[in-house]
Amino acid sequence: MNDLKADFLAKSESKVFDDKHRKTIAFNIDKYNAAVENGKLQYSHLDFARKKAKNLKWKAIESLDKSLETFEKKFTERGGKVIWAEDAEDALKAINEIVDKVKAKLVVKSKSMVTEEIGLNHFLEKLGVESVETDLGEYIQQLDGEPPYHIVTPAMHKSKEDIAALFAQKLGTEPGLTPTELTMVARQKLRNKFLQADIGITGANFIIADAGAIALTENEGNVRLTTSLPKIHIAIVGIENVIPSLKDLSVFWPLLATFGTGQKVTVYNSIFFGPKSVGEMDGPEEMYVILLDNGRTKLLRKEVRESMYCIRCGSCLNACPVYKNIGGHSYGSTYSGPIGAVITPHLKSMQEYGHLSFASSLCGNCTEVCPLKINIHSMLLENRAIYVDEGHAPMKEKMSWRLFKAGVSYRLMMNLPTSNMKNKAFEKVFAPLWGSHRAPLVFPKKTFAKLWKEHNK
Ligand code: SF4
Repeated sequence: MNDLKADFLAKSESKVFDDKHRKTIAFNIDKYNAAVENGKLQYSHLDFARKKAKNLKWKAIESLDKSLETFEKKFTERGGKVIWAEDAEDALKAINEIVDKVKAKLVVKSKSMVTEEIGLNHFLEKLGVESVETDLGEYIQQLDGEPPYHIVTPAMHKSKEDIAALFAQKLGTEPGLTPTELTMVARQKLRNKFLQADIGITGANFIIADAGAIALTENEGNVRLTTSLPKIHIAIVGIENVIPSLKDLSVFWPLLATFGTGQKVTVYNSIFFGPKSVGEMDGPEEMYVILLDNGRTKLLRKEVRESMYCIRCGSCLNACPVYKNIGGHSYGSTYSGPIGAVITPHLKSMQEYGHLSFASSLCGNCTEVCPLKINIHSMLLENRAIYVDEGHAPMKEKMSWRLFKAGVSYRLMMNLPTSNMKNKAFEKVFAPLWGSHRAPLVFPKKTFAKLWKEHNK
């Protein structure tokens, strides 16, 4: 068993029995579920919107190369700079050059899973550059020295009491502050950082091909401050975030808001066409968009291509019985939950992360709640097949299944051994796979064939 799998199993086991964790997650997901039901009421034809969105993403991904080139051409024409990054190293190198050019000392960041993926904060820290998260959830996580727990709500596993205690410990605030008071503390701390920052770094929810622009969606206004106060704006975006046209935002914005947080539309939605033009008051003097592959082109293989349609709403995480029990950090990957279990083995390595695709009951709830009806649970099954075909299944497991197949393929083989012999064989071979928390499997004294014979006497 590789170290990552062992770590995943150990963390999962400890979280499953953590009552406080379960209670906090259940409370937050219940609130989310109620909000989503409310958000859906804005639609008279929700199913049509979901199908339309899927179709648009299909179109964008089938012409990914052309869509990205169209974006680059338009964005560059307005003075923006596009950097193509094949991997995290390329992206970090480009950021390093910009940091060096302006001798940056302070970076403000908005929430971005892609920057987590490339380890940006750690990298900037090594360069001696202070990097401050400005999304409240991310700010809380940064204070606590933890990665985000969820792709939409980074501090979902923390209660308001946990956060008040954290602020008291790290910022010296009075203990037991209310959520409003905590928000005011964070706001006060962050305002100065916005004013002093040399560079603002964001992700992007959508790359708009025909407009040569990027779109960002948020609830706190921190993206607007991150992108308008510092002189330089760098956006790091996964290449799969492309959509064909500006008008498609009318489909994606409400869907993302409804399924992400249960809102009709998110509070702030911004479209960035490039650096500020002559005569414009606001905006950065320079704007860069880093188009990141980092393994995404491997997702183009037909078995998992649909995963590139994901708009990172987080809905499948909230619906997953496994995620709700083991929590986001157990996965040991930037992207957790069902969609994380589909894409991580391809973005990273099937050998090291393939076990995540087995962490699913295949109940299909993820597919059911996905706004784009992405066939997530089928792709988990496809990943399992790829994992086995590539030879990553442990020898013991392979042998066990071979034995099982031989045992159940012939009636004689099933009937010949006594129940005691079967119990012993199970204990020796299958018990570790069965798990210690299930009641042991006990074979009955009489076989089905024997019972059938007696019944028909
Ligand atoms: S796979 Fe679907 S439900 Fe899951 S995060 Fe992506 S868009 Fe949302």
